[in-house]
Amino acid sequence: MSIVLSPGEIKLPDGRSVDFANLDIAATAPCLRAVADAVAELLPYYGSVHRGAGALSQRCTREYEQARETVADALGRGAGDTVIFTRNTTDAFNLLARALPDGTRVLTFDAEHHANLLPWRDTVRLAVPRSPDEAVEALGYALARVRAPQVLVSVTAASNVTGEVWPVARLAEVAHRFGARIAVDAAQLAPHDPAALAGLGADYVAFSGHKLYAPFGAGVLAGRADWLDAAEPYLAGGGASAHVGDDHAVRWASGAARHEAGTPNLLGAVAIATALRTLRADGLNGHERALVARLRAGLAELPHVEELRLFPADAERVGIVSFALLDRDAGDVAVALGREHGIGVRTGLFCAHPLTRRLLAEAAERKGADRAPEHAVRASLGIGTTEEHVERLLAALR
Ligand code: PLP
Repeated sequence: MSIVLSPGEIKLPDGRSVDFANLDIAATAPCLRAVADAVAELLPYYGSVHRGAGALSQRCTREYEQARETVADALGRGAGDTVIFTRNTTDAFNLLARALPDGTRVLTFDAEHHANLLPWRDTVRLAVPRSPDEAVEALGYALARVRAPQVLVSVTAASNVTGEVWPVARLAEVAHRFGARIAVDAAQLAPHDPAALAGLGADYVAFSGHKLYAPFGAGVLAGRADWLDAAEPYLAGGGASAHVGDDHAVRWASGAARHEAGTPNLLGAVAIATALRTLRADGLNGHERALVARLRAGLAELPHVEELRLFPADAERVGIVSFALLDRDAGDVAVALGREHGIGVRTGLFCAHPLTRRLLAEAAERKGADRAPEHAVRASLGIGTTEEHVERLLAALR
């Protein structure tokens, strides 16, 4: 029995029933059984988190704070200092962007997801590197030239477009050598390699529960306390305020509470903590690696398909492969994969428009096509993906 929940067989328009091949796990992953159990166990005990003296409230408060500790443990020192439960990764980066001290310059590469591109104000955008080594070199070069009271480097740990793993620990070393801090978009790395989170050397880490085999609506921003404690609260309201005077003058809380105004998402926090514990114990990387290798090898044999990549072909990656289709419209193919084969993939520019457009143009050029496709197809694998799903996709594309 799989450790994730799945819809099982679905009926296709032609009347056949097939096991649904969910190859869009990078967008939203299925829910782990352990997570569903942990959430279900808590449902009879609904009580107010942080706000009541009764037994239910006490239990809910305890569970919420234990979830925070589990996340802090998974992240280690630095990033684990303050763990704030947010709605998702996008929310986490918006929070961090609001918490930056005045005059902070943010360095990002031109390869980021929009969540780590659009919230920043004063940014230096670095050209996309063509290898992990080049990324490290380019960052050192840029940091030597940036003059600002504070500098934050914000990078992805694993690309949602190419699946390539970025050399975050080395980038963190360079950032720290220049006195800069580093924030890491771990939305795609966390589900694939949660054990790696503590070794990133990051000052801030963001990720989403719904990509970590947990439900929607909860995410994490974790990081060093000083900027977060000095910033205006992300949301104003109860929970974030330590004292409100009769004239409405507010003394804000410090720590995570400062940025968690309103009743928190207890079930989301417990789900994230359970997912982290389950995934760390399971070490599922091997299965995913083998499937992604098979998928890439199969795609390479198809004459009108070209994989999108930034780094050399042998670079380390998570279970994500995006490709250009040079003889068909990506959207039409995705619809046909769903209707005729029971396969779910994603098409488009994957909320990383500048990067994906560029990679599509390069893919078309490598194939000698006169025009780049407007959209790409992305197949993403994870827990619950089987060899049969991968073979079905390859056969359908063939
Ligand atoms: N960063 C990366 C690398 C992602 O893949 C995603 C989601 O696709 C995000 C950030 C944004 O995550 P969310 O939509 O959960 O905020």
